[in-house]
Amino acid sequence: MTIERTFSIIKPDATARNRTGAINAMIEQAGLRIVAQKRIRMSRQEAETFYGVHRARPFFGELVDFMTSGPVVVQVLEGDNAVTAYRDLMGATDPAKAGPGTIRKVHAQSIGENSVHGSDAAATAEKEIAQFFAGNEIVG
Ligand code: ATP
Ligand code: MG
Repeated sequence: MTIERTFSIIKPDATARNRTGAINAMIEQAGLRIVAQKRIRMSRQEAETFYGVHRARPFFGELVDFMTSGPVVVQVLEGDNAVTAYRDLMGATDPAKAGPGTIRKVHAQSIGENSVHGSDAAATAEKEIAQFFAGNEIVG
C-alpha cells in the first residue's frame, strides 16, 4: 500500500448540472477519501497559473474561460496510489474515449467540458494542492 494524495477539481459543467454529490459518490465508491473540499469561483489569474503548462496550446483561452465560468469544487483525495487511481476513475480526457463506469463517461459533455480534473503525477499533486489549500485545511 502506498497512501498518497491527489488534487481534484469538479469543473463548472458538473457543478452547473448539480453533479457534485454523484461524482463524490463515485470517488468514495472507488476507495478514495475526500480529505479536503471547498467550492470556489476561480479567478482568471488562478486558472492561468493552474493550467500554465498548457499556455501555448490552442485551447488555452477557451480552457481559462471555461474554468472561470462558474463554481468549481476543489478537493484533496487520499488513498492507495491516489494519483493513478483517480486518473483511472476519471477516464480519458475526451469522454467519447472514456471507458465504461468512469466519471467522464458518465458525466462529461465534451473534451473541454469534461467534468473533472485530477493531477497527473505525485509532484504535480503536491504543487496543485498547495495552490488551493493550507495545510490545516486538509484533515486525513
Ligand atoms: P486535466 O488536466 O483537466 O485533469 P487531462 O490531464 O485529461 O485533464 P490535459 O491534456 O491536461 O488533459 O488537458 C487539460 C484540460 O484542457 C482538459 O481536461 C480539457 O478540459 C482541456 N482540453 C484538453 N484538450 C482539449 C481540446 N482539444 N479542446 C478543448 N479543451 C481541451
Ligand atoms: Mg492534465
